[in-house]
Amino acid sequence: MGISQSSRDIANYPIATMGSHSALQILRGAKDEGFTTIAVCKRGSEQPYKAFKVADEIILVDEWKDFVKAQGRLISEKSILVPHASLIAYLGYESIEGLRVPYFGNKKIIRFESDRNLEKAWLESSGLLVPRVFKSPAEIDRPVIVKFHGAGGGDGYFLAKNQASFLEKASKINDKEFFIQEYVVGVPIYIHYFHSPLTGEVELMGFDRRYETNVDSLGRISQKDQEVLGGIDPSYLVVGNFPIVVRESYLPKILEMGEKVVESSKQIVKGGLFGPFCLETIFTPDGKIWTFEISARIVAGTNPYINGSPYTWLRYSEPMSTGRRIAREIKLAIQTGRLDEVVSVE
Ligand code: ADP
Repeated sequence: MGISQSSRDIANYPIATMGSHSALQILRGAKDEGFTTIAVCKRGSEQPYKAFKVADEIILVDEWKDFVKAQGRLISEKSILVPHASLIAYLGYESIEGLRVPYFGNKKIIRFESDRNLEKAWLESSGLLVPRVFKSPAEIDRPVIVKFHGAGGGDGYFLAKNQASFLEKASKINDKEFFIQEYVVGVPIYIHYFHSPLTGEVELMGFDRRYETNVDSLGRISQKDQEVLGGIDPSYLVVGNFPIVVRESYLPKILEMGEKVVESSKQIVKGGLFGPFCLETIFTPDGKIWTFEISARIVAGTNPYINGSPYTWLRYSEPMSTGRRIAREIKLAIQTGRLDEVVSVE
C-alpha cells in the first residue's frame, strides 16, 4: 500500500467505479459527499448512469477487459476506484492486484473471498459457525448444496442427499471442480457491515435477502404440481434484493461476528479487512447463525438503502447508504492526510 497525497482538497480526487452492480449508489453517495464522479461503462450499458445523473464523466470501453487500459486516464485525474462484485468478477483477482489506480479497500483480502477453501479457513478462525464441507461425494451423509466455479451468481447449484444423488446430478454438469457444503435449513440473511480504519469502528449498515430465480418460485408451486411438471431443480440466480430488519435480540451476536471477522483478517493479511463487507448467513430455528460466505466489498444487497437503512438512520440521522459511507471515509482520509490508510495501490 502507499499513495503520496499532495492535497487535502477533495476536489482533486474524483471517485470512479465500473458502471454495474452498485455503481448508482456509489456514485450518488460520492456526489452527496461533494466529490466529482466517473463511471467506466461498457458501451451500450451507460444509460442508467446518464439517466440518473450520478456520473460527471463517463468513460466508455468496448469490453470489460479494456477497463485496465482506461485506468491511465483514471490515474492522471487522480481518481480513487471503488470496487464492487462486477469489477472483481469481470477483471478477476489477478488483474485487480495489477491495477495501478488507487483502490478503496485492501486488495490483498480479495484472494481470501475468491478461494472457497481460504474463505472457510478465515471464517472458522474468526470463531463463526461454518457449514461442514465434504471432500469427496462418498462422505455425503446429509443434505448438501453443491457449488462450482462456473456458476454465475448461484445459477446451476444443486442439492443432493448422498453419493448416488450427487453423481446423477453432477454427470449433467461440465464443471468438475465441485465444492460440497452441508445444506443448512433456515432463512438466508445477508449482513452488511462497514469497518473504518480511521475510527476503528465496525458499523452495522443493514440486512437483505435475495430474490432468486427459480428457487423463490418453488414455494408457489405445490409439491404435487412440481411432480406433474416432472420435478424442478432449484437454481439460485439473483435478480433483486429485499430489505430486512432482524429481531433486536440478535444484534449483540451480529455485531460481535463483524468484529471477530475484522480482528482475524489482521492475522491473514497486512492491514486486514476494512471498508464495506458482508456475511452471508443462514439463521436456524435453534437460534444459531451459520456463515457460508463472506464478501470483502460492497454487496448489491445494500442497493435498497440508497436513502439509508433503519440502522444507518439510528447512527447518522441523515441518509447514509454504504456508497455514501465509503465516500465519507475517503473524504475524512483526504482531509486528515491519511489517504494511504484507506487505499491500496499495489
Ligand atoms: P453466490 O456465489 O452467488 O453468492 P451463494 O453461495 O450465495 O451464491 O449461494 C446461492 C444460494 O444458495 C443462496 O440463496 C444461499 O442462501 C443458498 N446457500 C448457499 N449455501 C448454502 C448452505 N450451505 N445452506 C443453505 N443454503 C445455502
